[in-house]
Amino acid sequence: MEIKSRLHDVEAKLAKAAEKAGKKREDIKLLAVTKTHNVDEIKTGIEAGIEYIGENKVQEAADKLPLLKAAYKEFHFIGHLQTNKINKLLRLRPALIHSIDNLHLVEQLNSKCAKMSINQEILLQVNTSGEESKFGVSPEDALELAAAIRECDNLILKGLMTIGRFTQDERALRESFSCLRELKELIKSNYPDLDLKWLSMGMSNDFEIAIEEGANLVRLGTVIFGQRACALEKK
Ligand SMILES: *Cc1c(COP(=O)(O)O)cnc(C)c1O
Repeated sequence: MEIKSRLHDVEAKLAKAAEKAGKKREDIKLLAVTKTHNVDEIKTGIEAGIEYIGENKVQEAADKLPLLKAAYKEFHFIGHLQTNKINKLLRLRPALIHSIDNLHLVEQLNSKCAKMSINQEILLQVNTSGEESKFGVSPEDALELAAAIRECDNLILKGLMTIGRFTQDERALRESFSCLRELKELIKSNYPDLDLKWLSMGMSNDFEIAIEEGANLVRLGTVIFGQRACALEKK
């Protein structure tokens, strides 16, 4: 199937899931995850209506984004961020970094942003599944890390991100997502001044459930671009 018709399918599913959650399609931001896909495929996606693109590796993003020029509205970074890649990432001007999950990273990112005189919007990545292979701060430590980010002059906390539990068990999956939603409420009630706009959750396999559980930013790769080549698939 072509990217265009896949995107059409995804749009229909998003509209349906939004309605089920008492929302409108416009209330949900679709981030097209372009990792491992080449510039031509991404261009095809943008021509078909994709506006927001996400990459999970700094080097790969740095290689591809300049070739796309200004064709997209926003670039989001969604992968694990090493501190030695921060400068390179910031030069790509990400609209949002989804994957902030420890104090060292918070401090390094804040000081690099200060040096470049930019304010960077970020999400706190939470490990809601307890799976060891996943990055993210534990739910127990999320409030404290949010408080530390709030103290940073050059970082703006805009919400939370999680990767749902890898399971066919719908109940366990919903628990992951509702955990993130509840954490957002907890942080909000402690720090009402924060504008926690985004709940970034839901991938190709689980985005409809995520939207039912309150997601308003979904990160979709496979359902738009097709299966990624296995050799390139690295966490
Ligand atoms: C790859 C990736 C996605 C997209 O996964 P699909 O299952 O292909 O939709 C979403 N979020 C993150 C953090 C990813 O690394």
